[in-house]
Amino acid sequence: PVALMWFRRDLRLHDNAALYHALKSGLPVVPVFVFDRNILDDLRVKEDRRVEFIHLALQQMQRQLAGMGSSMDVRYGDPEEVFRQLMQEYKVEKIFTNHDYEPYAIERDAAVRKLAERQGAVFSDFKDQVIFEKEEVVKDDGRPYTVFTPYSKRWKARLNDFYLSSYPTEKYFDGFFRQQERPVPSLESLGFQAVGAEFPSAQLDEEMAKAYTAHRDFPAIPGTSRLGVHLRFGTISIRELARKGSRLNETFLNELIWRDFYHMILWHFPEVGRGRAFKPEYDFIQWRNNEAEFTRWCEGMTGYPIVDAGMRELNATGYMHNRVRMIVASFLTKHLLIDWRWGEAYFAEKLLDYDFAANNGGWQWAAGSGCDAAPYFRIFNPYLQTEKFDPQGEYIRKWVPEFDGFGYAAPIVIHEQARKRCLEVYQAALKR
Ligand code: FAD
Repeated sequence: PVALMWFRRDLRLHDNAALYHALKSGLPVVPVFVFDRNILDDLRVKEDRRVEFIHLALQQMQRQLAGMGSSMDVRYGDPEEVFRQLMQEYKVEKIFTNHDYEPYAIERDAAVRKLAERQGAVFSDFKDQVIFEKEEVVKDDGRPYTVFTPYSKRWKARLNDFYLSSYPTEKYFDGFFRQQERPVPSLESLGFQAVGAEFPSAQLDEEMAKAYTAHRDFPAIPGTSRLGVHLRFGTISIRELARKGSRLNETFLNELIWRDFYHMILWHFPEVGRGRAFKPEYDFIQWRNNEAEFTRWCEGMTGYPIVDAGMRELNATGYMHNRVRMIVASFLTKHLLIDWRWGEAYFAEKLLDYDFAANNGGWQWAAGSGCDAAPYFRIFNPYLQTEKFDPQGEYIRKWVPEFDGFGYAAPIVIHEQARKRCLEVYQAALKR
């Protein structure tokens, strides 16, 4: 008999909650990863940095496991189908995995749990990707917070060493099931091609963290951690990072709390995962949804240099600085009056650190429809944002080199006119 450890957003062997419990179960542990066809087959572009990232992370884990005489069993398919096969091939007594709060994942896990239980196996899942989940940080009356500041206060008040300490998986590494190394399916066999993407380091740069408060809003400076993708796929442990964050810089720790906050919101309000505005009255906004303008936004051709620089950075690298994400999202929803869901979907396709909860939260924040969002009448002025956050135009020149010359696009809208139009359209919806 064996235990299966099902890896998903937790692609590491160290400090992993479910893996720790699996190894301690006393059963030989077979590490499993499923390339989920329900997700992969929906990706239109077959050069995908995320798939490449996962592939590299799996190969790294595979090397570590080979050194211990074990191997990950990597499959492709519908997870329920794959588990049906796995349960025929191994004598499975237990399945271990970590929580995933996205609506699709919740359904998927429920199906696999049911399958396991029908066959007499125990399915156990654990909190791993956040510090606090679900009902762990709620108001006195047990209801979820919908405003960040009081949530973060309660979050900090609850924090102690217990929540920050690592799971010492390495003590139990002799518990892996012994088998010959199995190949990880190639990207090509999954229908993908390598982009040859370069990924940021999975280490927190402590000097960066100390200067985070002063530097983090300036896109020309490498002043943020770039750990988004590692947090997304679990190649870094949130406990390790929050431990360092709480020692080094409170502003940085706050960003990690925003991440917990949005996961908590998605868990308590699953309707935001089904395309709904968090504040329902915002679903009455009459979006203009001009497709030609949307294309110009996507391509970084709006004639607003800071917006165009951001979109081009995203298209070229899969990354965009947070300050600029806020600016381009505000511009799309407010200046162009294009439905935030269009922007959300475009980011979902392009962002290396794409995460449903944070992306949805970020977009609804910008559109004004989110919990604790910017009030709708606060409309970013892209010129003032540039003066404040890219005063020398360094970031802009990097991504929009033609900006200084004659070849640059004319502004797609006039700021003052767009601002007025936005206020009228939002007011019409919200005053119904
Ligand atoms: P750092 O500034 O170094 O922050 C450290 C970590 O904290 C990040 O890696 C991230 O995990 C977390 N974090 C930081 N800011 C936020 C935030 N506002 N909300 C939630 N978590 C945060 N973040 C994503 O991880 N995935 C997304 O898909 C995503 N989409 C966004 C869309 C919009 C419209 C906006 C405005 C923001 C979005 N963010 C998203 C939040 C934020 O922009 C990124 O987390 C950050 O830019 C990633 O860069 P970094 O790793 O250098 O962040």
